[in-house]
Order: sequence, then structure tokens, then C-alpha cells
Amino acid sequence: MDKKKTKINTPQTVTSYINGEWVEPKKSTHQLPIIHPANEAEVSILYEADAKEVKTAAKAAKKTFESGLWSKASVDDRKAVLLAIRDLILENQEEIAELEVMNTGVPIAQVCGRQIPRSAMNFEFFAEFISQASSPVFDQNPDYITYVRREPVGVAGLIAPWNAPMALATMKVAGAIAFGNSCVLKPSELTPLGFIPFMNLLSKAGLPDGVVNMVNGRGGVTGAAMTQEEDIDLIAFTGGTETGRLIASEAGKTLKKTVTELGGKSANIIFSDADFERALDAALVAIFSNNGQQCLAGSRILVEKPIAKEFKKRFVERVHNLKIGDPYDKNTEIGPLISRNQNERVASFADAAEQSKNTNILCGGKRPKAFEKGYYFEPTVVESSDNQSAICQEEIFGPFATILEFEGIEEALQITNDSKFGLVSYVWSTDVRKIMKAQADIRAGVVWVNTPLMRELRAPFGGYKNSGIGRDGGEWSRNLFTEEKTVSIPLKDFPIAKLGER
Ligand code: NDP
Repeated sequence: MDKKKTKINTPQTVTSYINGEWVEPKKSTHQLPIIHPANEAEVSILYEADAKEVKTAAKAAKKTFESGLWSKASVDDRKAVLLAIRDLILENQEEIAELEVMNTGVPIAQVCGRQIPRSAMNFEFFAEFISQASSPVFDQNPDYITYVRREPVGVAGLIAPWNAPMALATMKVAGAIAFGNSCVLKPSELTPLGFIPFMNLLSKAGLPDGVVNMVNGRGGVTGAAMTQEEDIDLIAFTGGTETGRLIASEAGKTLKKTVTELGGKSANIIFSDADFERALDAALVAIFSNNGQQCLAGSRILVEKPIAKEFKKRFVERVHNLKIGDPYDKNTEIGPLISRNQNERVASFADAAEQSKNTNILCGGKRPKAFEKGYYFEPTVVESSDNQSAICQEEIFGPFATILEFEGIEEALQITNDSKFGLVSYVWSTDVRKIMKAQADIRAGVVWVNTPLMRELRAPFGGYKNSGIGRDGGEWSRNLFTEEKTVSIPLKDFPIAKLGER
């Protein structure tokens, strides 16, 4: 990392944050190094929360919840605090962004341009949402009035991934606390740094201690303890499909409400009548932003035969021009991957593509020679004639685009749906009939027509099939973070059977 480009001091230790205080680091605690992926330097040490510490955090959250200080606060008071959190995120965005880059290696322009504003927006969105939300009243029966109350569930366990740590975790934190819950957050063990300034600003915003608690550590230790913890009432999880399966089955044992937002292998269908230049620009954005490490990546690019040759040529030319480099450089478009493991995983798909007779590497596929250190991987484009190959079926989670050709809409939709995932999809066409057929027949939670990566927070977001269970966004987050209580009140006295009267 180029020291001149960062102004912040990296916190030397990462511990849990419980009831408004940082837990003191203890020598006897299991420790994990925090690595900057651009130069592999150890920049901080994480002190892992064990099951006992998770219990302490859950108890603090429960005690605060039961005190009513936050869970029964008026909506206007909660709204004011959420808006203050938004303001403080924006005031501290430089520090938070630099720590995110230190952890993730995602280019600073993308962290500052998208992820930190989105983190602030998550709080603004839920502040506005709660102030407008209402519940149904059933007054069809003239003798009764029946209405529905929405009440917070209790303690929410929030488990977040490493690819966009703040943007994804704050969506969960904002949703949970907006509706009056307390929570225990676990970021990925790889990316806890940005949460240190974030936790510090919560009490400044007026949030009572114990409403948001954080535990840090490995998924198999700290995360597993959360899914087993009796005092945690629900789990909102974003991460990989296999982890989601494990978490849902573990959480089922204590009957926690569970929402899982999992992986994807999303098709980006480009018909020959599409606006070619816009589709080309968007295809690059959809697969290469966030270093290709995003669940909603358009990682399978399906191009109609008449334009396929030209598309591949132009796409590869642009990929050769992508600026790979120091994520703190404002001009960098591709930074390093998150970890050595992830780098090796992505490389293994390039090796498989090299071996396979159905695939052809058009560019990339190796570690770039210019970098002695860091988990860099060349932006890679592979054409495939077989949608069953591993590079078309598995989520690679890196700067790795796969291109398949198709003839006509039926084949495009067949290839799109021939996947165990169903998170998002992209359709590029100027023919409204094709668009309408595609949006109806695609088996995925989102269809983006002639646009990449549009996240409407009011609308549901989540996946079909192995891409998850449940949705978040406006009303759907309210369903997760609240219990519904039906209250019936008679409007006049009516006869009640007199059991036992002789
Ligand atoms: P993982 O599934 O490995 O981890 C996600 C989180 O779960 C981390 O905090 C992890 O902890 C924790 N975890 C791991 N094992 C357990 C366990 N047994 N019990 C409880 N918690 C556990 O995913 P990644 O962090 O590698 O993130 C990448 C994945 O996330 C990709 O597959 C991607 O598609 C998906 N994703 C989905 C999104 C969506 O909205 N659908 C958005 C973004 C990413 P730790 O890392 O500390 O081990």
C-alpha cells in the first residue's frame, strides 16, 4: 500500500463491541491476522469472540431490548437517530472508506462512489420507511374491530460477507434497529476494520448502548455460536450457498426466523437488436466492478450469434485496457482479490478452462506479472460452448467472465435457467416482446432490463433456488424484523356462553 495515499491510522486490534464498550484484548484469546490484500501485509489483529463472548453480546442485546429504551421508543425518536447515523457515516466517510479498502482491496473510487453512500442511504431509507408504514385494520365485522400490530422480534443475529462489508451489513443493521430490535452483528473475519469507526459513531448518534453489538471471528466459531445461541431470535445471513445451508439447518434447531441471501451465476442476455454500445459498457460493469466479487455479477454473458464475434472482440479489447493496480489509486478499476484462498480458487477455474475442450480463454487467466505481492488476478474472459462446464455452473466470485453464444430467445432462456442459482439476471433488447417474455420466464429474483445493477430498496431483493430464501427491502425487511400481532376488540357487549352456570 502506498502510505502517501492514506491518511488514516489502522486500528491495531479488533475485538467485540458489547453494550457500548470495546472488549479488552486478552493474550489468551484466539488471534487472527488482518491482511491488506494489495501487499499481503498484516495490518491488524482480530481477537476472536468465542461462544461465551457471543452469549454475553446476545444477553446485552436482550437486556436492552427488554428495557424498552429502544424497542418501545417512538417512531419519530428512532427516525431521528437513524438519520443522525446517516449523517455521521457521511461525516466519517473518508476514514470508513479507507479502512474498507484496506480490508477488501476494492478500488477506492467504487467504495467512495457506491458503497459508503449506500451504507448511509440504508439508514435514511429505513428512517423514512418506518415513519410512513401502517398496518391493516379489518372492520368488515360490525361488532368488532380487528387490527394488526407490528412489534420487533427481539435480538437479531446479523451475519455479513466480506465482499461489500459496510454496504451489506448496514442494510441489515438499519433494518433491524429501525423496527426496534437489538442486534448482534458478525462481519466476516476478513473485513472487520470499517466497523470500528462505525460502532463508535452509534452512541454519538443517540443510539442506546446494547442496541447494536458486534462480535468478530471465524464463521465456524463465532458465527456458529450465533446460530446456536438461545437469546438470538432471528438470523439474517448474506454469504455463500453452502454456509447458508448450514446456517439455516442450525438455526432451525432453536426455531429462529431465518433469511438467507446467497450466491449467483447470473445470466446477462444480449440480443442482437440490443443497443450494442450500452450493452457492452454494462456487461463490463456487471462482471468487473467490485473486483468481480459480487453476488449479483453478470458472470455468464449470453450473446446472440449474429453479434457474438464483434461483441467478443470489443469486450476483450476493453478488458485489456482495464487498469489493475493499487486499490487506493483513484484511477484503479481492478484491485486484488480478498485473500490468497480466493485467488487460488479463481485460478483453479482458469486452469480448468485451459484443460477443457469446450472452453477457450480469450484473455487473462493468470496472476499479473507486474505485481510481486498482493492477491491480484488478471481480468479473465473465457468463451464456452457448454453451459454444463464448471465455469458456467459454479460461482467463481472474481474478475472472470464467461461468454456463451445462443440462437433465438428460447435457447437464451433455456441456458439462463439451466443453473442451480437464480439471484439476478440482465436482458438487453429493444424488442418489447422479447423483453416481456424474458422477464416472465427467467427463474431469478431480479430481472434488470437494459440496465446493470439497479438496486431499488423499496422492492424485494433475494434469490430463487440456491440463491437463498426470503427477501429484503422495504416491506420484506419489515416482515423479517417484526412479529405481527392481531388484536380484536368488540364494539358492543354480546352474549358469552355461561359455561358451568347451574
Ligand atoms: P461465506 O458464506 O463464507 O461467509 C459469510 C459469512 O458467514 C461470514 O461472516 C462468515 O464468517 C460466516 N460464516 C461462515 N461459516 C459460518 C457458520 N458455520 N456459521 C455461521 N456463520 C458462518 O461467504 P463469503 O464471506 O465468502 O462471501 C461470499 C459469498 O457471499 C458469495 O458466495 C456471494 O455470492 C455471497 N453473497 C451474496 C449476496 C446476496 O445478497 N445474495 C451479496 C454478497 C455476497 P467468516 O468469513 O468470518 O468465516
